[in-house]
Amino acid sequence: MKPSPLEIYKLLPKTNCKKCGLPNCMAFAVRLLSGQAKIEDCPDLVEREEFRENYEKLKELLGERPAAEVSLPRIDNEEACNGCGICVVVCPANARADPEVGSGKGASRKEGLIFVVVNGKVKIMDISKCRRQEDLTTCRVCEEFCPNNVIKIG
Ligand code: SF4
Ligand code: SF4
Ligand code: SF4
Repeated sequence: MKPSPLEIYKLLPKTNCKKCGLPNCMAFAVRLLSGQAKIEDCPDLVEREEFRENYEKLKELLGERPAAEVSLPRIDNEEACNGCGICVVVCPANARADPEVGSGKGASRKEGLIFVVVNGKVKIMDISKCRRQEDLTTCRVCEEFCPNNVIKIG
């Protein structure tokens, strides 16, 4: 039976030290369960003798599961793009990176943005900003809102 996030959490150091790159141990437990993190991403768990037993228990509970691939948006059919800019405006990560985007005026700069329209065609600038990489979000807004099925995820 699949363990619960709480069962996993109880075996972590519970110090919320953030060395795994996440805000707290509970977030790490959730990522471990979804396969988006590996036990070894928590250095204290691996290195400190007092957590040795918990480390072994976690390995048993989670098995040797490979880390899941995060599927990210890609331009699948550039020909069909008419440069409408809907993806630029609706993507929450774009709006966060540039307030002008959220106001509907379009991008005032390219740095830190995922989508921009150049010469009437969409371009992906910085996919590392996609919310799908940050947390367990299932955001597919860009794919859903593009009227011409240009953007595909997975
Ligand atoms: S590195 Fe380990 S102890 Fe630190 S927050 Fe992440 S899971 Fe918790
Ligand atoms: S999946 Fe969401 S955050 Fe990622 S590029 Fe598309 S709209 Fe933006
Ligand atoms: S990818 Fe889709 S939403 Fe984005 S500019 Fe092109 S047609 Fe518009």
